[in-house]
Formats: sequence, structure tokens, C-alpha cells
Amino acid sequence: MKKIVILGSTGSIGTQSLEVIEEQKENFQAYGLVGGTNINLLIAQAKKFKPTWVGIQDESKYSELKERLPKDIKVVAGDNGIEEIIADSDYQVLLAAISGIAGLKSTIKGIESGKDIALANKETLVAGGELIMNLVKQKGVNLLPVDSEHSAIFQSMNNHKRKIKKILITASGGPFRDYEEEDLKGVTVEDALNHPNWSMGRKITIDSATLANKALEVIEAHYLFDCPYENIEVLIHKESIIHSMVEFIDTSIIAQLGYPSMKLPIQYALTHPESLAVKWPSLDLAAIGSLNFSKPKEYFKALSLGIEAGKSGRSAPIIFNGANELAVDYFIKGKISFLQIADMIDKALNNIDKIAINSFEDIVFVDKLTRDYLERSF
Ligand code: NDP
Repeated sequence: MKKIVILGSTGSIGTQSLEVIEEQKENFQAYGLVGGTNINLLIAQAKKFKPTWVGIQDESKYSELKERLPKDIKVVAGDNGIEEIIADSDYQVLLAAISGIAGLKSTIKGIESGKDIALANKETLVAGGELIMNLVKQKGVNLLPVDSEHSAIFQSMNNHKRKIKKILITASGGPFRDYEEEDLKGVTVEDALNHPNWSMGRKITIDSATLANKALEVIEAHYLFDCPYENIEVLIHKESIIHSMVEFIDTSIIAQLGYPSMKLPIQYALTHPESLAVKWPSLDLAAIGSLNFSKPKEYFKALSLGIEAGKSGRSAPIIFNGANELAVDYFIKGKISFLQIADMIDKALNNIDKIAINSFEDIVFVDKLTRDYLERSF
């Protein structure tokens, strides 16, 4: 029985992780559940899964949470409370599924406490890159990708001793993949949230529409698989059936395929290096018929800005990530247009000095600097 703590249990990845745990209850147990603010869902989850710990980020909800939960569940709130759960020695895997840079600190605490990390939160590696990978090595923990593309790359590389030539990351292209640049001017938040293939949290859904998500994934892949940026290629694949591929030096390409559902990569991160049989149907390739590929259009500027930031290194990926998070928030609130998301990222990358990153505090500093700068200038 593998005991799992889920950070972000009330989100899209968190709820799908609990579905996996429920479907595989002879193998997995939800040991701890942590939410941000959604107290009603957290309570419903806790009553169903009976974890040892429940935590909520929003400290003002602590008393209500404690009152409404059975007395045998340990209830905590805020950073310190969540860190208490993470430090518990009686579980094996920390599933990091908080959205945004907010997930960085808790993921670091998980690695420090020696737990294997099932990593959904891509912003952690984008902002923490080298620091995180060094810590992972130092602590000897497994960093298991949950993101479907990285799970696909991980599975395609698995047990191959061959040298890799290239990683091919696929992208659905989001709701605007067939739009001309001109058409992007008038798109609304509702249009951007209407993803054709995937059901995800709001922030990542907007990132899929701008292709910023793919830039975050390229940076994540660079660190996770120690692969130079020059050897990572993005391919638009509108069916989202091939989740990514690896080309070896002899040009052989190995891909991982599956329906666009996060349950398979979530489950694989929890079972690696083994697999468990599932109840969902096999992929019906004859019914799908054809798989299409194309190059991303260059007017989805967030993609190239992000990859360039990755290549520049130092604090540039943190600036990219912070600017993107703030811009997406502004877009959702109606403060800026869709195309201004990339403008904000561009402005931040052009105007904020890049510095070397040597600590978690440096990351927090650059993230705040970026947000403060953009808040003043937009
Ligand atoms: P959601 O917005 O659906 O969920 C985010 C979760 O994080 C919620 O449980 C939320 O709590 C919690 N949360 C938010 N802020 C904080 C905070 N400051 N402290 C503690 N908890 C917080 O996001 P997703 O599930 O879509 O994405 C989660 C991560 O996984 C992201 O980094 C995303 O890029 C990545 N990912 C997601 C995929 C998907 O299919 N959804 C695919 C691949 C990667 P509450 O709602 O209670 O406030």
C-alpha cells in the first residue's frame, strides 16, 4: 500500500488523482489532502477518503474545517501546517499539484523530507531548475513527472541505453490553433477557456491557448531529462493522442500514446517502474483514423519568449513565469486582451535585469520583482 499526500487535492489534477486512488484502492491510500481555499470540496474529499491529515492554505478557514471534520483527522492550516504534513514520515509519495509558483516551496519541503515527488506543478522546475535538480540528487529522491508530455518522454526513454538525439514535445495547439494572427485580437476569456481536448484548471488552460504552457514544458523537459534546448522540438498535434516522443541517434522514434486524460500519467507516476491494470478502454486507433502534425505558428509569441528565456538561463525563466502568471490573472479579470499576455511577458523580459539564482530566496525575490514591475507599468 502506497500512502500519498496530495497538495492541491481540490484542483483538476488533485481530483483526478483521487479518482485514480479510488480506482486502485488496494494499492494506494490518500494519507494527506491539502487544498487552497475550497473548504467544501476538501471536506467532502476528507469524508470520503478518510486521510490522516487535512490541510488548507487559507488560515481563516481553519476553525470551520476542524469543526466540520471527524475528530480523528489531524487538521492544519497555512504554510507551517502544510509543512507539518509534508514532514510526516509515514507516507511515500508527495503529489505536487498546486498551481503556479505557489507550489514551489512545498515541493522543495517534500524533497528535503526525502519523499518521492510526483510532479504536476511545472512552475517548480521552470523557476527552480538547477536548484531543484541538485536537491533531488542530493536527497536521492525520485522526481516522477505527472505532466502528460513528460510522462510520455519518461516512458519512451525508459530502460533505453541508446543515446537521445531529440525530444519531440507535442501540443494540442489549444482552442486557437487554426486562428490567423488577426483573429486572436478579439478572443474572450470564455473562448480561451474552451479547450478542445483537455479539461484542466483555468491557468493552464489559458497557458495552452497562448502556448506559454508549451514553453513551460520545454523548460521543464530541459531540466528533468538534462536535454539541451536545441534538442527539444515542439510539434502541434491536434488530436492529443501522442503525448510526446523521443528520437534516438539512429533516428528511431519512440512515442507514448493514450486518450487525452491525466489519469494515466498520474497513475504511472504512482506505480513507476511498474504498471497496474485499469478499467478505462484501450486506445481505439482505427476509430481515431489519422494523426496530424504541424509546426507551431510564430505569432503565438509566448512560446518563443519562454524558450528564449529558458536558453538565457539565470533568472530569465522566473521572470517569464512570473510575468505570465500575472498576465493570465489580468486577462481572466478582463484587465488586458489575449494578445497583451505575450506583450506583458516581453516587457518584463526586456526590462528586468537578469541575475544568478543561488537560493529559494532569490527565486522569490525575482518573482516579486517581476510582478511589482508589471503592476506598476500596466
Ligand atoms: P487547478 O487550478 O485546478 O488547482 C490548483 C490547486 O492548487 C487547487 O487545489 C487549489 O486550491 C490549490 N492552490 C492554489 N493556490 C494555492 C496556494 N497558494 N496554496 C495551496 N494550494 C493552492 O490547477 P490544475 O490542477 O489544473 O494544475 C495544477 C498544476 O498541475 C499546475 O502547475 C499545472 O500546470 C499542472 N498540470 C495540470 C494539468 C491538468 O490537466 N490540469 C496537466 C499537467 C500539469 P483551491 O482550489 O482549494 O483554492
